[in-house]
Amino acid sequence: MATLNRKRKLDQTLIQKLYHDVPSKDPTRESFLKRLKTYDVFNWSGKPVDPPLCALHGWEIAEKDVLKCVMCHQFMSVTLPSPTKDAPYKHACSKLKSRLASAHSKFCLYSTNQVPDSVLEIEHVSNMELQDTIQQQLLAFKNIEALCKVSELQDEIKEIFDWFLETTAIPDVHLSSFTFVLTGWKFLQDDMLLKCDYCNRKWSIEPYLSQKNLTEKNDSVRTTVDPVAQHQRWCAWRAPTRGWKSRLLQLQQLKESRCREKRSRLSSDSCDSLTDRMRTVRKLLNGTL
Ligand SMILES: [Zn+2]
Ligand SMILES: [Zn+2]
Repeated sequence: MATLNRKRKLDQTLIQKLYHDVPSKDPTRESFLKRLKTYDVFNWSGKPVDPPLCALHGWEIAEKDVLKCVMCHQFMSVTLPSPTKDAPYKHACSKLKSRLASAHSKFCLYSTNQVPDSVLEIEHVSNMELQDTIQQQLLAFKNIEALCKVSELQDEIKEIFDWFLETTAIPDVHLSSFTFVLTGWKFLQDDMLLKCDYCNRKWSIEPYLSQKNLTEKNDSVRTTVDPVAQHQRWCAWRAPTRGWKSRLLQLQQLKESRCREKRSRLSSDSCDSLTDRMRTVRKLLNGTL
């Protein structure tokens, strides 16, 4: 018995250790995002290849118009002729695209592209992680209300927001904050900035705050912001189906399954009480009650 208890304790310790040792972040994705962060509008505008594709092939910005592979440390110049010189420009663009794979040293892992294409999508998380993440990020927005409207699916967002509030008790959170979180934005409270961890864009929420959030009386007309359009053109959150809409869909499916569970629990409860009542009637008839 003592051996069995000791074994059980060891198993529990091992499970706990494994559970805590599992890195919460995927290192491949993390290093991809680190390379992606080196690209900005100043060092990478007007190029024919988007930053995610360069980072997928192991390249980060070394300096303006120069890329460097993080693995084999090869450099690649990405200076292009003026687009007005049509033929040379097109030739340079297609050469740049092919050199993303071929400019590595012979044994570099990135020459055969070891990074899965899934890094070009938003991070897909389990239902449990999703609820926790949204909840944590919403807390940062406490009491903040902004004028924001996504150009589509506004009713669906509202429906999921109402359900989210019912199931997780978070006080003083507004639909606009939920919309920002759902569309990939984190709130940096001290600077009043919203930030995307994928395209690395930051923007001020202040011009879009609702009147009640303004500290002094301000009669200027407030404008409405579309949070999806605030991402860089190539940001994974903007992708038509695998971007923020996949988060919304996941939440809708989660809501559906929770509602189904609730319905089946209620119906089994009512079955139980019916069985109890029948048992009582039987006892009465038998004279044992
Ligand atoms: Zn390389
Ligand atoms: Zn973004």
